[in-house]
Amino acid sequence: MALEDYRNDMMRCVRCSVCKFIPLSSLIKSWRFANGCPASAKYHFHSYSGGGKMIAALSLIDGRVDYSDALMDVVYKCSMCGACDLTCRLGTDMEPLQVLRELRSRVFREYKQLDEHTHIMNSIQNYDNVWMLPRSRRKNWSKGLEAKDLSTGKEKAEVLYFAGCTYSLDPNLQKVAQNTVKLMKQAGLDVGILGTKEKCCASPAFQIGNEALFEEYALSNIESFNALGVKKVVSSCAGCYGLFKTHYSLLGKEMNFEVVHAVECLDKLVREGRLEPTKKRPMRVTYHDPCHLGRLSETKIPSEGKEERVLGCLPVKDIPKAIGLNGIFDPPRNVIKSIPGIELLEMERAREYSWCCGSGGGVKSAFPDFALWSAEERLEEAKATGAEALVTCCPWCEKNLKDAVDSRGETFPVYDATDLLIQSL
Ligand code: SF4
Ligand code: SF4
Repeated sequence: MALEDYRNDMMRCVRCSVCKFIPLSSLIKSWRFANGCPASAKYHFHSYSGGGKMIAALSLIDGRVDYSDALMDVVYKCSMCGACDLTCRLGTDMEPLQVLRELRSRVFREYKQLDEHTHIMNSIQNYDNVWMLPRSRRKNWSKGLEAKDLSTGKEKAEVLYFAGCTYSLDPNLQKVAQNTVKLMKQAGLDVGILGTKEKCCASPAFQIGNEALFEEYALSNIESFNALGVKKVVSSCAGCYGLFKTHYSLLGKEMNFEVVHAVECLDKLVREGRLEPTKKRPMRVTYHDPCHLGRLSETKIPSEGKEERVLGCLPVKDIPKAIGLNGIFDPPRNVIKSIPGIELLEMERAREYSWCCGSGGGVKSAFPDFALWSAEERLEEAKATGAEALVTCCPWCEKNLKDAVDSRGETFPVYDATDLLIQSL
């Protein structure tokens, strides 16, 4: 749909500011951790909130504002975390996040992109990854694991492990992919990888507004996964997983495989007794829900933009949107709690109302100070629980939260759930 198709959503935004906070009446536990929108909490002006961006979008399509650096600032100082969308939809059938996406696509197509984002788009196009690194290095993380290489077509497997750009190529994070494959193999799963033929999922292109690049990579990846004949595609990256599940599936191309996040797979293996954590890890931890694994992995039936007028006056959308149906909230908590000796403490903003780490939506590359600020806020919240460590399930969250720890000269540990699981076997 085009930005204009959301005109009524934009018109109906009443500037109530509900989208800046977690649900006021039911979930706020303290004023300190009541904010839900990192952009409005950091930059204070209404225009940085979900509602503010809706009004900016309406002004743009109606010609009251033109493209400018100020508009770019509002549009891209946003981690596309979806917190505004969830809280607004608690009481309305509006879709702020869809407006934000269409606004980015419009700006990208008709105006310009930020230099930092151009760099990422060029990297995807020239190297099939976001790190400007040669394709030949994409397989290095798997050395010694003896995972089947499915790229030549000579070997077959039931499960494709999709490592993603960051777990493949960031030496500080590769251990998550390595541990996941080790654990799956230990539990007896038939696992293969795509090695040097694995391509970026194109999540950065999708988030930044480059629809054409997203579609090109998404369709090519679907075709490649279908051709492998695998039953499941498992990824440890919340970004890849969320995109495969919620947006690849909307492209109208048949997907003959199930999409699973690694932590869902590991949770199932533990519950089936195929992995048995026995070694004690006495520790109090708290869990950070990555946006793309939690609220943004909830699948929805998209609106077709049809509206009806109730009593001839109030416009109502054709299809109500589901909230809280199938985001991945319990599996990581189950895995953590399966480890003997670990106590899991919850942050004030948890599950679908989790505070974003600040890394997504192209923010980490274009506005690193904003990304760090959001992660520092999360670190404060984690420490306020009395936890000794933070656990998450996403390379971008892990990296950004660790950067926040380092920038403050602290030593608060940040783990992936697989780090703890493998140590307890
Ligand atoms: S986007 Fe929704 S929650 Fe935010 S100000 Fe507008 S109506 Fe209120
Ligand atoms: S997507 Fe997240 S950062 Fe962007 S306006 Fe909505 S709540 Fe704020």
